[in-house]
Order: sequence, then structure tokens, then C-alpha cells
Amino acid sequence: MKYIRLELQRIRLEFLRKMNVSAALKAAKTDAVHKKVDENRMHRNYLKLIPSTLLMVFIEFCGMLYHLIGNSNPTLKTVYVIVFSVMLCTTILILVCMDKELSHGGASQRTERVSAGLFWALCTVSLMICSYIEARDTGTFLQYLIYVLLLSLLPVFRPAFSMPYFLISLAAQLCIMLSTEAPLPSIIFVFGVTAFCIAAAYVKYSDYMSNHLAMEQLSMLAEYDELTKLLNRRGMQKRAEILLDYTARVGAPLTVAILDIDFFKSYNDTYGHEQGDRCLRLVAGCLAENYRRKTDIVCRYGGEEFLIVFVGEDAGRSAENLLHLQKSIAKMGLKSGKPDFEKFVTVSIGAVTVQTQLDESLHIHIKAADENLYRAKNEGRNRVCLNGKMYTL
Ligand code: GH3
Ligand code: MG
Ligand code: MG
Repeated sequence: MKYIRLELQRIRLEFLRKMNVSAALKAAKTDAVHKKVDENRMHRNYLKLIPSTLLMVFIEFCGMLYHLIGNSNPTLKTVYVIVFSVMLCTTILILVCMDKELSHGGASQRTERVSAGLFWALCTVSLMICSYIEARDTGTFLQYLIYVLLLSLLPVFRPAFSMPYFLISLAAQLCIMLSTEAPLPSIIFVFGVTAFCIAAAYVKYSDYMSNHLAMEQLSMLAEYDELTKLLNRRGMQKRAEILLDYTARVGAPLTVAILDIDFFKSYNDTYGHEQGDRCLRLVAGCLAENYRRKTDIVCRYGGEEFLIVFVGEDAGRSAENLLHLQKSIAKMGLKSGKPDFEKFVTVSIGAVTVQTQLDESLHIHIKAADENLYRAKNEGRNRVCLNGKMYTL
């Protein structure tokens, strides 16, 4: 029995760990990654309405057949038919609405939340009616058990959200059982099953959230730069390919710019590596602030070099844009590591604005932008060189 005891102990510890994970999840609620995972969870619940509604209708259909074929009281038969019809109509309505929303690119988050909430509320009410019929007719409570099991297995609800469903249905079921004078062991059994389902729903939620958070964090690590929180090369490449394909198809101009902090080695030597890291973070923040459109790509290309890709601006406007960025960086007033050159930290930018072709690689544009950066550095730094033309503030 030693090993069985050890295994049970492991399960208990695992359960407690999941409880702790859930508490940690609550603490990290404001985190952007948490928010994204939570939104995905709600979207998953929304999509799960498709099998959930069909399953519920099937269960109701079986229940109705049982009562119609069996020796049930005619009033109960009628109530069952009404409940089944309501369930069927609601299911058809839900599926038609979902189909319409999904064909338009998906529902809003609010719609997703409200749909899932309303559906399970409807299930609670209709299954309670059926459970009452069942208890009066056959003295069993299968409907209730199937309902709580499905509620704990199909959606992934936050415990605070699913708890009212469980508690209201348990209270209603207890009333039904007391009014039909169900034996005490049955009442204890219903309590036990409900407690099990509440725990299962709880574990499912914390399992879902911790696994998806870990996956999301892993993909963040793979695609984002740890120091600046900007995209890294891999993350940039993935997005740039889509952008390049888009600009080639619609014929929009694409600008690729490489920004390099001037005399950054001196900055590190003067203020230390830690302050150097801080400077990189501030410059990165300024870049992200200036390029906020969904189609803008800002990435840490390596060391003190950053890559910016944006669409829809011709060469003249792109140069203006980049000069404005230069100004914003200078405005931060970070003390320069080479005061005899400039008082504040400056950057040099090499860029190209091009009309892209299908199946073209971003690499050739980066190479051309890099050549322009080299020119900007050679011409004295703190300037923008776009398509071979020099711009200064
Ligand atoms: P230039 O104006 O020609 O660009 O000169 P520079 O000194 O900026 O260029 P150089 O390539 O000589 O030096 C780049 C420096 O950037 C050297 C390196 O220590 C520093 N660096 C690269 N990555 C990091 C980092 O993550 N943190 C810090 N603090 N420094 C970094
Ligand atoms: Mg460099
Ligand atoms: Mg540099």
C-alpha cells in the first residue's frame, strides 16, 4: 500500500499546487499575456457552444423519447416536449447567429461572454425543469448529474463565473429532492457529485490557464527581445513576410529603416553597461511609441541597432517620419557618451522606400538600408539617409 499512499499524496500535492497556480493567476490578472490567454479562453468557450448545444439537445431528445414512449403522466409528457422544443429552437438560433458572426470574422468579446453565460443559464433552467419531471416520474436524477458533469467538462469558466451555476442548480436540485422525498443517500450522492464537479471545473481552469500562459510566455521568449520587449529578428521576419506580400499585392510603398545609436560604445564606457541597457530600453520605448500602427514593425535587430518597417508612406513622408523619430529620441535628453560630438544621445538612420515585388525577400531591402546607414555614419552621424539622399534635423 506504500506506493498507493505515495501516489495519493502526489495527487493531493498536485491539487494544492493547482490551487496555488489559480491564486497566482489572480495576482497576475493585469498582465498583458494573461489578458491575451483569458481572451483566447473566452473565445474557446464561445466555440464550444457548438458541441455543447448539440449535446444538450441530444440529451433532451433522449429524455423526451423515454417519457413519451414510457408510462409517464400526460402533463409531464407535454412539459418535456415544450422544454425540448425551446432547447431545440434556442440551439438553432444560437448556431445561426454564431455562423453569421463567424463568417464576419468572429464575435466581439462581449458577445462571446454573454452568449456563453446565457446558454449555460438556459441549460440550468431547462435541465432543472426536466430534473423535476424525472424525479417525480422515475425518482432518479440523471438529468442533473449529466448537467453538472457537462458544465465542469465542456467550458473553461473562471471559478467565480461557474460557481453560481453550480450553486443555483444544486439548490434547485435539493428542493426537487426534498419535495419528492428523495432518500438521504441520494441527497448525499448529489452533494458529492456536485462537489467533485466544482473541484474538476476549478482544476480545469487553473490547468488551462497555467498551460496556455506557459505556452504564450515561451512564444514571447522566442519572438521578443528580453531587454527591450521589442520583437527580435525571428518575430520580425514572420510579420515582415506578411507585410511584404501585402505591399506587393496592393502596390503600396514599403519603408525599411535601420537605426543605430551613435557612439554607443563610448556611452557604455562612460556610464556603465547597466545604464547602457537602460538607454537601449528608453530608445526602444520611443520607437514603439512612434510606430504604433498595427502594420508597423519595430524590432531590435542586434546590439544597439533597431529595424523599423512601415507601409503606405512615399520617400518624402518616410524621411519626415524618421526625422521626427530622431527628434523624439533627442528630446528624451539622455546625456551623450561623447559630449564633444552632441550633448544628448543621437541616432543615425539608413533607410529605403521601395515598391516591393511578389516573392521578394526582405533581406535585400535590409541590405540596401544598411548601406544607407553606413553612408549616414560616414557623413558625420546624427542624420537620416533614405534612398541615398541625406536628411538632417
Ligand atoms: P557608431 O556611432 O559607429 O555606431 O559607434 P558605436 O560605438 O555605437 O558602435 P560600435 O559597434 O563600436 O559599438 C556598439 C556597442 O554597443 C558595443 C557594445 O558593447 C554595445 N552593446 C551591444 N549590445 C548591448 C547591450 O545589450 N547592452 C549594452 N549596454 N550595450 C550593448
Ligand atoms: Mg552598430
Ligand atoms: Mg552605434
